[in-house]
Amino acid sequence: MALLEVKNVTVAFGGVRALDGVAIAAEKGRVTGLIGPNGAGKSTLFDVISGLRRPSSGQVFIDGHDVTRLGPSRRSKHGLARTFQRLELFGRLSVRDNLLVAAELGPERRKAATLVPEVLDRLGLTGIADTSADTLPTGVARLVEVARALTVRPKLLLLDEPAAGQDAEETERFADLLRSLAADGTTVVIVEHDMDLVMSVCDDLYVLDLGKVIAAGSPEEIRRDELVLAAYLGD
Ligand code: ADP
Ligand code: MG
Repeated sequence: MALLEVKNVTVAFGGVRALDGVAIAAEKGRVTGLIGPNGAGKSTLFDVISGLRRPSSGQVFIDGHDVTRLGPSRRSKHGLARTFQRLELFGRLSVRDNLLVAAELGPERRKAATLVPEVLDRLGLTGIADTSADTLPTGVARLVEVARALTVRPKLLLLDEPAAGQDAEETERFADLLRSLAADGTTVVIVEHDMDLVMSVCDDLYVLDLGKVIAAGSPEEIRRDELVLAAYLGD
């Protein structure tokens, strides 16, 4: 059974169907990629999975539990953590305090004092733990967002464009991190425009266009798919 299952989800904003009967599954310990042009519905799908937006129809299952009617904090108790396309750090807090705030709100709050230094160390952020978040270059701030999500020890980690603003070297280290998280059993779902990263790190891919899944498969299968090429070339 998949760790995440989204069944037949529809979301309408006025007359626009941001999502139209979307179904995806993410397997435990794998990296699943969600790609597609701007406006395809990727961030909306993350909002539905994380409980920030109720779909007009459809269901979300995490680890076999129907969480469709649960709010975001109850979903985090089921092991879900996410990052946002727009950075959501507390600018005036240090890197360490950004992690502490998240850890103390999460299901592992009693272990916050030990988890935070562990996560800082794993992501190579210990040296900037006292730096205030609003002084960080975007690429580093993205990594701090991921670190913050990791302080709850998620079973399911949703990352919305985590490599935007990272340079080539940061992206390469980030790819290694995603692989090691998956190897530890974390289920990772990533929305990302950097195709080199997506193709090298994802085990499974879904392509969204205009609110629908237009293709699904391995990176090799997706690379050869003509519908996908058409969606990206806009014809
Ligand atoms: P993506 O992340 O793939 O770029 P989004 O999920 O952000 O796409 O948006 C999907 C569609 O839904 C777009 O047409 C967008 O304009 C629309 N949309 C997203 N959020 C809202 C909102 N809060 N109100 C109205 N329309 C929205
Ligand atoms: Mg988006």
